[in-house]
Amino acid sequence: MDHPNAVDQLKLVRAAIDRAAEEAGRRPSEVTLVAVSKTFDAEEIRPVLQAGQRVFGENRVQEARAKWPGLREEFAGIELHLIGPLQSNKAREAVQLFDVIETVDRASLAAELGKEIARQGRAPRLLVQINTGEEPQKAGVAPGEADVFLAACREQWGLAVEGLMCIPPADEPPSPHFALLRVIAERNGLQTLSMGMSADFEAAIQVGATHVRVGSAIFGHRG
Ligand SMILES: *Cc1c(COP(=O)(O)O)cnc(C)c1O
Repeated sequence: MDHPNAVDQLKLVRAAIDRAAEEAGRRPSEVTLVAVSKTFDAEEIRPVLQAGQRVFGENRVQEARAKWPGLREEFAGIELHLIGPLQSNKAREAVQLFDVIETVDRASLAAELGKEIARQGRAPRLLVQINTGEEPQKAGVAPGEADVFLAACREQWGLAVEGLMCIPPADEPPSPHFALLRVIAERNGLQTLSMGMSADFEAAIQVGATHVRVGSAIFGHRG
C-alpha cells in the first residue's frame, strides 16, 4: 500500500524547520529532524526513506529490532535514535541496534552502558534525559541532580555524553522547559539539545534545539 501522505507531511515539516531556524537567526543545517516512526511498520517507513530521510527515532528496543535491521540492508546511512526508556537488561541490545541513545537517566543504566560499550567496541552517541518538569511518573534526571550525574557519567562510567533530551509536561508551555535544558547543557559544556515534538518543534528551535523528534506530524495519528 502506498503512503504518499507521509512524504508530503515530511516535506512540510522540513520546510517548517528551515523557516523556524531562519527566524531564530540559525542555519537550518544546525537542526536535525528525528522522524519518530514508533508503531509504524516498515512498509509505512520505506517511502520516507525513499524521500531521503535518514534519521529516525524508536521508543522500544524490541520494536526497533523487528523493523530496522532489514531497512538498514535496503538503505545506507540510517541513523537510529532510542527515545524511550531503557531497562538495564536491554542495554546490550540497545548498544547493538542504536546509533544514538537519548534516554540515559540513572546510574545503573549508565554503568551497564559503559560495560557494553567496552565489551562490544561499539559506542552509540549518548544523551541524558532531564525531567525538567520534575514529574514523578516521567523518566529523567532531576534538574538539580544533572551536574552530578553528568560528572559521574564521565568519571565513573567512562561515558562521553554529547547532550541532553527532555519531554516537557503536557499541560505547560514548553519553552521554559526548553530554556532550562539549554542552561543545564551550557554549564556542562554539552552541544546537543534534543527537544521539541510535533506540537512544539518550532518553539524548541527558537530556544536552540539541535534535534527535534517529530512523529505524528509526519506519519499521522498513532493507532
Ligand atoms: C512519541 C515521541 C515523540 C514524537 O511525538 P509526536 O507528538 O508524535 O511528534 C517524541 N519524543 C518522544 C520521547 C516520544 O516518545
